[in-house]
Amino acid sequence: MTGININDLLSKRVLELEESPTFALENKVNAMDSELKKQGDFVVRFGIGQPDFNTPENIKEAAKKAIDENQTKYTAAAGIGELKQAIVKKFKRDNNLDYEPGNILAGIGAKQVLDTIIRAFVNPGEGVIVPRPYWVSYTQQVILSGGVPLEVNFRDDLKMDTGHLKSVIGSFNGRIKLIIINSPNNPTGVVYSRSELEEIGEICLENGIYIISDEVYEKFIYGDAVHYSMASFSRELKDITITVNAVSKTYAMTGWRIGYCAADGNIIKQMSKIQGQSPSNPCSIAQWAAVEAIDGDQGSVELMRREYEKRRDYIYGRIKDISGVECSLPGGAFYLFPEVSGLYGGAIRNSMDFSNQLLEKARVAVVPGIAFGDDDYIRISYAASMEKISAGMDRFQKFCLGL
Ligand code: PMP
Ligand code: GLU
Repeated sequence: MTGININDLLSKRVLELEESPTFALENKVNAMDSELKKQGDFVVRFGIGQPDFNTPENIKEAAKKAIDENQTKYTAAAGIGELKQAIVKKFKRDNNLDYEPGNILAGIGAKQVLDTIIRAFVNPGEGVIVPRPYWVSYTQQVILSGGVPLEVNFRDDLKMDTGHLKSVIGSFNGRIKLIIINSPNNPTGVVYSRSELEEIGEICLENGIYIISDEVYEKFIYGDAVHYSMASFSRELKDITITVNAVSKTYAMTGWRIGYCAADGNIIKQMSKIQGQSPSNPCSIAQWAAVEAIDGDQGSVELMRREYEKRRDYIYGRIKDISGVECSLPGGAFYLFPEVSGLYGGAIRNSMDFSNQLLEKARVAVVPGIAFGDDDYIRISYAASMEKISAGMDRFQKFCLGL
């Protein structure tokens, strides 16, 4: 070959794209953990956010049955009819939303569904509002579509500053197509109230901005927190909202890769074209498992929710007593988002240094806040056994005391 520099051939977009920090951390932790295991030790995994539970038996059985019945061919791009029907029923049952199968698309996890929505809407240079702190992939998916992520600040309670939202809308020199709302929130665990969501919805209606409502943590809410679906408030809001959900978190099925959304039929039609040209369809066997997950016995969901709530109460009780760390009690998801900048100094200048040293010295993995757009914080996932949480918090406390 002639002396071509490969980076001159690769696209600017892909070269500028950041590696997923959650997946990068997971790879590093896996390598470190297998080394430590040889010495009888382990890493406490508060990093990547995924249920530590196994997928419930009834769901696994449905997948085995699908294999035995040779459900192994391509399916319709937007998913099998049975899955769309199950999702229609779920939206009615859980969110009081009326949809038809033509309003539903199933994809390869909420992640790919989100990417497909963004691709369907965004032309190069157009804006997508991404409130901080944001889940790691939102901004990068916008960039991959050639769009411009527009960040909105948060208030002391970690919720969106709607005054800043209005000024971001007013000052962007171009068309803003979408906003991404995520309640219960990753990374903060914050759950928005009905009136807070309605206020955001009103601003979007006034400005012709469509809403992606990412509700993947809807089932994991605690205390007196209540989950509201943006699309359920009014006909007008339903028209401009694309509700995203997945079986990944609700049924401990992250590896099965089934997510879905509900939206206006034309949006679904356009997204189905992308799906037909790119992944073809989500895995046929995983789709049958998802039918059982969504439409079968829901008992396992409440069992997992209760367990997460116990863990939340325990871990919050531990973290709030650590001096230099500020943390509010989250109402949902399975994350704490403590502010640790009070402990910065010396070799620890930012959230990346904090997380790296915590991993190296205390063998506890957390995600640095910078991955979510704020360097003063870290994210702790408590989707881990009580035993691991207890050991992890002993290590975390000792590390913080030593700073
Ligand atoms: N949205 C949020 C807020 C998430 O935390 C996740 C978890 N990775 C996703 C979307 C993607 O979910 P999935 O695993 O179904 O792709
Ligand atoms: N939702 C998880 C997290 O935030 C999974 C990782 C990912 O999809 O990036 O850690």
